[in-house]
Amino acid sequence: MTAPQRYIETLYPGYGQSFTIDKVLFENKTEHQHLIIFENRDFGRVMALDGVIQTTERDEFIYHEMLTHVPLFAHGNARRVLIIGGGDGGILREVLKHPEVEHVTMVEIDGQVVEMCKTYLPSHSDGAFDDARLNLVIADGVEFVNSTDETFDAVISDSTDPMGPGEVLFTSRFYNGCKRILNKGGVMVAQNGVCFMQLGEVTTTRKRMGLDFEDQNFYAAPVPTYVGGIMTLAWGSDDASLRQADLATIEQRFAVAGFKTRYYTPSIHVGAFALPQYVLDALQGT
Ligand code: SAM
Repeated sequence: MTAPQRYIETLYPGYGQSFTIDKVLFENKTEHQHLIIFENRDFGRVMALDGVIQTTERDEFIYHEMLTHVPLFAHGNARRVLIIGGGDGGILREVLKHPEVEHVTMVEIDGQVVEMCKTYLPSHSDGAFDDARLNLVIADGVEFVNSTDETFDAVISDSTDPMGPGEVLFTSRFYNGCKRILNKGGVMVAQNGVCFMQLGEVTTTRKRMGLDFEDQNFYAAPVPTYVGGIMTLAWGSDDASLRQADLATIEQRFAVAGFKTRYYTPSIHVGAFALPQYVLDALQGT
């Protein structure tokens, strides 16, 4: 009996996770990146881009709920939302659950990621790509935010890591562009790595995003297949009261929204902004 083929993540040169590849569903070098979607006995269907795990059927809900509901319940009345990246449709699915959301623009650089995730990871978008509120744009997110004349109440950057096509989504030019198109009282959040393994991404984002936003901070979410501990999600707004919204306010908004979650709760929302001391120490110096 030959050992099953394994997918070995190559995000870190000296450390990484691996998955048995029980069945390859799709694999291709797209115009922008290497894309594979395969079946794994423990995490269900798994997508990876350029050697980095992007999402799995089993744990995607944690990340997608936390990157969406924390900013939207903190804001309280986001009608126009911009998603950068997010090709698998998980963020889009969660954003559209908010009854106050009237319009979502989603700017994804790789159309093949969208098409293949619709086909092989249908539960991620769960029909969200057919929602009349969506305007799907296949383009580079940094170009979009620096050229569009649309404005938004919330920007959610669900990008790959700062390498390849995703690198530009961690630059000052990107944060400047996002700030430019945010309405007054708006909020921006972004995927910002796993702080135990990528602490430099936290301090770099503080330096860059901090130039555009009065209140630049981070909040945490534990996503099993983003290995190395808690993920630090970047936060930016000009009104610290959004981040400091109290439990009673978040509970009330969550109750009015009326949808169920599997990870997010108002208590986890409020608690997520409590960061480990080593992260606070690293931010002290920036
Ligand atoms: N949840 C994952 C994570 O935390 O790493 C991200 C998932 S999502 C698949 C990342 C998406 O960002 C991909 O579909 C990728 O094509 C897209 N992307 C990368 N660079 C981009 C850019 N410059 N503009 C727009 N989308 C981009």
